[in-house]
Order: sequence, then structure tokens, then C-alpha cells
Amino acid sequence: MAKHSIVVLGAGVSGLTSALLLSQNPDNEVTVIAKHMPGDVDIEYCSPWAGANYLPFSAKDSKTSQCRNKDGNTTIGKWTTELTKPDPWYRDVVPNFANIPSDRLDPGVDNANTFTSVCINAAIYLPWLVSQCLKAGVVFRRTIVQHVTEAADFSPFSSRKANLVINCTGLSSLKLGGVQDKTLHAARGQIVVVRNHQAAMHMISGVDDSNEESTYTMTRPAGGGTILGGSYQMDNWDSQPDPNLAVRIMKRCIELCPGLVTPGQGIEGLSIVRHGVGLRPLREDGPRVDVEKIGGVWVVHNYGHGGYGYQTSYGCAETVVELAGRVLTGKKGSREQPHL
Ligand SMILES: Cc1cc2nc3c(=O)[nH]c(=O)nc-3n(C[C@H](O)[C@H](O)[C@H](O)COP(=O)(O)OP(=O)(O)OC[C@H]3O[C@@H](n4cnc5c(N)ncnc54)[C@H](O)[C@@H]3O)c2cc1C
Repeated sequence: MAKHSIVVLGAGVSGLTSALLLSQNPDNEVTVIAKHMPGDVDIEYCSPWAGANYLPFSAKDSKTSQCRNKDGNTTIGKWTTELTKPDPWYRDVVPNFANIPSDRLDPGVDNANTFTSVCINAAIYLPWLVSQCLKAGVVFRRTIVQHVTEAADFSPFSSRKANLVINCTGLSSLKLGGVQDKTLHAARGQIVVVRNHQAAMHMISGVDDSNEESTYTMTRPAGGGTILGGSYQMDNWDSQPDPNLAVRIMKRCIELCPGLVTPGQGIEGLSIVRHGVGLRPLREDGPRVDVEKIGGVWVVHNYGHGGYGYQTSYGCAETVVELAGRVLTGKKGSREQPHL
């Protein structure tokens, strides 16, 4: 029986996880094509910029989040609404959840909690995903397509078009021919990577200087450095780090997390690895994971994961496998996108 030829368009965390899970089925022959691959540093490639932690918004140790009621209507306040609720949904999901007693809260903080979470070193994880795909027989090819249906021409396994394309182009789905999803927005995130070590991760619901700037720290495992953040600047496509914002980020992170530097030191106590900017692929109605036929080609979409593409990568890729199975076995039909 002829195998199913599947082309995954995109090699960020969404594309690579989709390719890996699809490749577990021996009936599938999977190709990944992309403009950018792990190792590249580019403003059009979001995945290398992520922390990346699980934060229902963490170090292998613990994570604390603090809320100030006055941040409720700011961009950052809305972004962290679920995370900073006094009695959040995830309290029974994460290990060691505890509310911090009110007499231990910093001045101006209305509630705070702590829990155990995880942090991934994206610089190691993305190449690891590639290696697992290669082990499973996935073929990789660098190319740029203008229209999503062009991806179907890149199956090396047969002289005909691929049976299915998986669209994992992130923010580029805003302009990609055949998709052009106008509900996508860039949510600009500026970070500073430092050598200073901080075992616990921290985040607070807002800052006083701006409603699109935030304060968080996370130390990547395996020598990945500590990420100091950050910002959530809507429809801001500036790829260059803003030096003034960088100074504000460093000052605020030391204020939130004094253990980052030797007592008495300011930002001079930080050993900077690099400054960075990434554009989160934010979609108004949440991630799109569904199927449609475009110009005679079946396409499963998996894009628009905003600031949580690592957290949702396995769940969304599992849905991709399910949708691909329906198309490839003839039980087609669009599926409502999952509420994520
Ligand atoms: C500062 C920052 C911090 C973050 N922190 C976290 C975190 O702690 N936890 C978390 O879960 N998430 C985090 N995120 C979000 C996460 O990084 C993204 O949701 C995720 O990386 C999106 O991955 P993706 O694969 O969908 O898109 P991308 O990584 O952007 O990949 C898109 C792929 O499509 C390819 N492509 C696009 N157009 C074309 C074309 N026309 N032809 C060929 N190839 C094309 C690109 O080359 C690339 O390979 C963070 C993001 C930022 C910016």
C-alpha cells in the first residue's frame, strides 16, 4: 500500500512537534520544509526566543507569580489574568501550589502564589526535536513558499503532490498565500539573557512605567543562562532591542529578584550574554488547529500560539495527528478549533 506523503511547512516548535508525532505512524512519510531551521536567529522565527517555561502561564524548582489589582486593564494585566488569579484553575494541575500569605506580600502586591514548573532550553530542545525526527526518517529541506499549496510539491517520496500539508508558519500565516489570517498580531517580546543564576522563576502582573512592559525571570537548564523579561507590545514589529527598555527590564528584574546580583549591586552586577527580540504569533481567537481544502490541497493548520507555543506544542500536535488521520483515511470534515 502506498504510504501517505505529508509535508510540514515550518520548523519552529509547532512544525517540529507535529512532524515528530506524525512520523510515529509507519504509514506516513514526512517532510519538513522551512525558510528557517533550528540554529537560525531571525525576527521571522519566534521559537528560538522563548524562555521557555510552563506558566499557565519555571526552573525545575519553583515559580512565583504576583498580582497587583491595579494592573487589571493593562495589556500585561490581561495577558496574565489567569496566571495571577487568587484561586486559579491550575492550582490542582501544577505540583506544590500555594498562596503566599498576605503578611508576606511585597508592598503594592494584592495576591501571589508559588508552584513547581519546568523550563526548557530552546537552544537544545529544537535541535533535539530535529534529531528525533531524523531518527524517524523525516526529510528536511530549506525553501520559501509564497502560497501554502506550493508546499505539496515538496514531497521527495513520490512524483505526485503530497497528500497533505501541515501549516505551521506562525506569524507568517498573516501574509502566506492561501491563508492570510488577518486576526494574527505580533506581540513583541524583548529580553536580556544573562549568566547570573536564579533558581526560582518569578513574574508579576505589571509595572508602573508602561502597560505593555512586564517583569519576569527564568533560568534555562543546561547552561542556557537566565532570561530577563520583558514586554508584550502589540503590533510592534521592531526587530531591534530598545536600549532604554533593556535598562528598565534589568532594573525591574533585580528589584523583583534581588538574588540575581551580589547585594548592593545594580545592573552592573549582571553579566549580559545578549539582548533579543521575538514576535509572539498572537491570534485573536486563540491558536488555529483545524483542516480545510485550499486549491485542491488538504491543509491542517497549526499556528497562532502567542506566548505559549511550547506549552501547547504536544497537545496541538496530537490534534494535528488526529485531523491528519481523518483526511488521510477519507473521514474528512472540518473540526472546531480546540479552545486553548
Ligand atoms: C520573548 C518570548 C518569550 C516566550 N516565552 C515562552 C514560554 O516561556 N513558553 C512558551 O510556551 N512559549 C513562549 N513563547 C512563545 C513561543 O516562542 C511561540 O508561541 C512559538 O515559538 C511559536 O512557534 P511556531 O512554530 O508556531 O512559529 P515559529 O517558531 O515562528 O516558526 C515558523 C516556521 O515557519 C517557517 N515559515 C514561515 N513562513 C514560511 C514560508 N513562507 N515558507 C517557508 N517557511 C516559512 C519559518 O521559517 C519557521 O521555520 C515566547 C515567545 C517570545 C517571543
